Amino acid sequence: MNTLSVDRVDWEDYYFPGFRLLVDGRRFDTVPGYVEDGISYWEFEDELAPAGRDPDPNDCYRVVGVCTCGYAGCGSTLARVTKSNGTVRFHKFSGLQADEKPEDLIFTEANYNEVMAQMRVWAAEFAERDKKGQ
Ligand SMILES: [Zn+2]
Repeated sequence: MNTLSVDRVDWEDYYFPGFRLLVDGRRFDTVPGYVEDGISYWEFEDELAPAGRDPDPNDCYRVVGVCTCGYAGCGSTLARVTKSNGTVRFHKFSGLQADEKPEDLIFTEANYNEVMAQMRVWAAEFAERDKKGQ
């Protein structure tokens, strides 16, 4: 079982306000299969944003990283996020790095939900700050 965590990243230390996912304390861009490791707050939709139409919320591709400009349309790393029996599996990554085999990552659903809840709080703070133009 892996452990998911998230860091808050800001204008000062990144190109956009948002998040950096960590797996077992490692940046996602050091995990085979990941290219981008940052997610801007506007590409987060209460949960890692689903990619594609009519996603099954328990088994769909989601945006786990975006281009350094913050826009998923410019470039993004997707993972299939499959929830079952209290676990959440990240697999079938879209952004394969050369010479590396992607690892499946498995988290407890409680761990995943905790990280999503933290990201929702921070996303709301970023949105509020942007609204004020600060
Ligand atoms: Zn870009």
